[in-house]
Amino acid sequence: MKPSSTPAPARRLASALSIPTISHADRTREPHPEAFPRFEQFLADSFPLVFSGSSCESPGAPGLLFRLPGRSETLAPIILAAHYDVVPAGAADDWRLPPFSGQIHDDCIWGRGALDDKASLLAIMEAVESLLAEGFQPERDLYLAFGGDEEVTGTRGAARIAALLQQRGIQAAAVIDEGTAVVHDTIGMVRRPVALIGTAEKGYLDVQLSCRASDGHASMPQRRTAAGRLARALRRLERRPFPARLRPVVAGFLRQLAPAAPALLRPLLRFPRLFWPLLRPVLAANPKTDAMIRTTQAPTMLSGSAAPNVLPAEVSAVINLRLLPGDSIAGVLRRLQRVVRDPAISITPLLPEGSSEPVPESPVDGWVYRGLQDSVTAAFPDAVIAPYLVTATTDSKHYRAVADAIYRFLPLPMGPAELAMIHGVDERIAITDYLRMIGFYRDLIQRLTGNSPGEEA
Ligand SMILES: [Zn+2]
Repeated sequence: MKPSSTPAPARRLASALSIPTISHADRTREPHPEAFPRFEQFLADSFPLVFSGSSCESPGAPGLLFRLPGRSETLAPIILAAHYDVVPAGAADDWRLPPFSGQIHDDCIWGRGALDDKASLLAIMEAVESLLAEGFQPERDLYLAFGGDEEVTGTRGAARIAALLQQRGIQAAAVIDEGTAVVHDTIGMVRRPVALIGTAEKGYLDVQLSCRASDGHASMPQRRTAAGRLARALRRLERRPFPARLRPVVAGFLRQLAPAAPALLRPLLRFPRLFWPLLRPVLAANPKTDAMIRTTQAPTMLSGSAAPNVLPAEVSAVINLRLLPGDSIAGVLRRLQRVVRDPAISITPLLPEGSSEPVPESPVDGWVYRGLQDSVTAAFPDAVIAPYLVTATTDSKHYRAVADAIYRFLPLPMGPAELAMIHGVDERIAITDYLRMIGFYRDLIQRLTGNSPGEEA
């Protein structure tokens, strides 16, 4: 596509991708701290009607909150959330096009953040800007909540935005954030694309197991070393995974797939509780589906001695846990103690501020969910729509106190290739997909904040 024929929204997204808003857990180590105010200024320059038609605040550091006032003051608002920070691009040489060059090539817009999550943020802005240009005024308040540190827990961005809303006593009808997409060639038993609406989210916890060693020389070690004890603890954990449970969100997911699945599988999927003894081993056999039915525990960082001939004073391992709704951080810690059953091994949460409790299921029978379903069908007519348990974490977890209904959805078709681009190399979005995304948000905003829905549950 020649630059002259490239639609303006695609060029704006390309510009947004050229601003390297890379997050770092330690803010003083962000490689381009100036990129965040530059990105905010870019939004102001690109979307003048959103800025003039709404109040804009910066409660986050970084993080933006827009409020478009609705006609009615009594209706509960809708919050659309997204984030403008990105993860580092890795080795730029591995990319076919430089990750922050903001190029349009092969009918795609390239760059880190093209899928996660600047496309969503810019598409929401494009949708609101174009609606305002047409004279649209929402019936209920519409908030746009954009975090600037989602990739490093969201505590400075979304958490502060949510705290401000809570302080003002705002209770929203729903929060709609990034999340799962319209996947194809990903769910084995269904050929049709499946629009996965994240209605629940797993919790997050890093735990450190450590064991202090008694003194000694590597040439004269004791029979039982600290490394051996730690290894035994890890093996005990691996032998006793957390129990498998069928949560309502997963039961709902399986039921929705039933009509599109091969005839033989349909009864199992339609009645997942009844057939749980049959389904459980099948789901457990694949790590992707196993993660949907239990709290997972993955040993990640191991450390011991720094030299081959020195006994370590302490050995440690980090276990990354993703908590199934219904579990809690306190309960998980108790179980780890029980399974490890070794007083020499201390078990402590690592960076408690980065951990999060699981977010239980949001309703799938309310007017917001129905509106979301209608917008999905309008944009993706052949997709099966199913609720989904998001196994990653999103900014939306911070909004629990301001909304009972939280949905995580990215209106984008994604196959295995696109899923690999998220936090991977050659991240890009097809221009046609991006334009459809804008159309989706236009439709959704009108459905959820327009004249139609009442306050029925
Ligand atoms: Zn994201």
